[in-house]
Amino acid sequence: MAYKSVFDASAIKSDFELAGLNPNFIPLIWKHILQNPNCGWDEIPSLPSAAYPLLRSKYKPSTSTLHSAIDSSDQVTTKLLIKLQNGEFVEAVVMRYDTRLGKYDGKPRPGGLRSTLCVSSQVGCKMGCNFCATGSMGFKNNLSTGEILEQLVHASRISTIRNVVFMGMGEPLNNYSSVVEAIRAMTAPPFQLSPKKITVSTVGIIHAISKLHKDLPNLNLAVSLHAPVQDIRCQIMPAARAFPLERLMNTLREYQTSSQQKIFIEYIMLDGINDEEQHAHQLGKLLETFQVVINLIPFNPIGSLSSYNTSNDQKVIKFQRILRGTYNIRTTVRKQMGQDISGACGQLVVNKNFTIKGGGKIMAEIRGLILPKD
Ligand code: SF4
Repeated sequence: MAYKSVFDASAIKSDFELAGLNPNFIPLIWKHILQNPNCGWDEIPSLPSAAYPLLRSKYKPSTSTLHSAIDSSDQVTTKLLIKLQNGEFVEAVVMRYDTRLGKYDGKPRPGGLRSTLCVSSQVGCKMGCNFCATGSMGFKNNLSTGEILEQLVHASRISTIRNVVFMGMGEPLNNYSSVVEAIRAMTAPPFQLSPKKITVSTVGIIHAISKLHKDLPNLNLAVSLHAPVQDIRCQIMPAARAFPLERLMNTLREYQTSSQQKIFIEYIMLDGINDEEQHAHQLGKLLETFQVVINLIPFNPIGSLSSYNTSNDQKVIKFQRILRGTYNIRTTVRKQMGQDISGACGQLVVNKNFTIKGGGKIMAEIRGLILPKD
């Protein structure tokens, strides 16, 4: 029998209620596991006696294992390869940064050391974006709430996580109920992340965006737009055919009106495809009446999996200047992180030839796992 993850929030809550146990004990169980990675059920103190046989018979403290953790050479990024109970692998990435670096308004920036965790929501992805390593794998399965939360548990043992972004493998809004449940758990004890520190990134699943603000107010929404016109979107993101740009923009308008929050726009810079001056003007006109922050993302090559090239620095800077100067839109250029450890989502899993802790290569294993998609 496959055991459930104790972090499968609704399953354990309903089992506790059925057994007449108080669900308020659940965060205490989670806290103990966070602090004691290899503990057995009997080692968790002060639970009602009926909780122990229930936990033993149906649950595991973790259904996934940290298969390997690979640091980038600059130690800023750590990529976690996590093995699930069904033998599949997903990636999670810890990114460390110091918000005090640089100046703001001529003064030292406030803040300090922070870690952001990028989590996966699916094994593979249906959306098939053709610049994306996960996209090259095809869809395997949705992650359960517990499997999503366990990524945070594994990462929390490496670094103090202050922000979570759903920008790993998979389209989070295609696994809506598990993602929503995982985020609710992340904002409750013992994790207690602020919803403002959690970002869900989507290619633009229109019906799910319409629901999101009601289910999770105060969350950050990032939209992977990647092109200012529908035909280029469809060329690089085949799934965009189902989500016409005009309808998507109407949905984002409604989302912004009800949430009153800015929306983050992700825009991957692909040489000769979407990085010309005309594209910057089209993007500026499309977004000038929204409250948005645009992140320009230099493309992270995925080797033979993609024929795209990275836009050169001059093109990226010119693109940014047009958006800022002509359209007054806050536009940042994302720093490339962890390229030496296959920094883009899905690359580590798709990469068939890397060494793991404990020796050997998992080339054949990985090839069997995931090869058909970011
Ligand atoms: S970019 Fe995101 S939505 Fe597109 S294939 Fe990759 S994981 Fe899926």
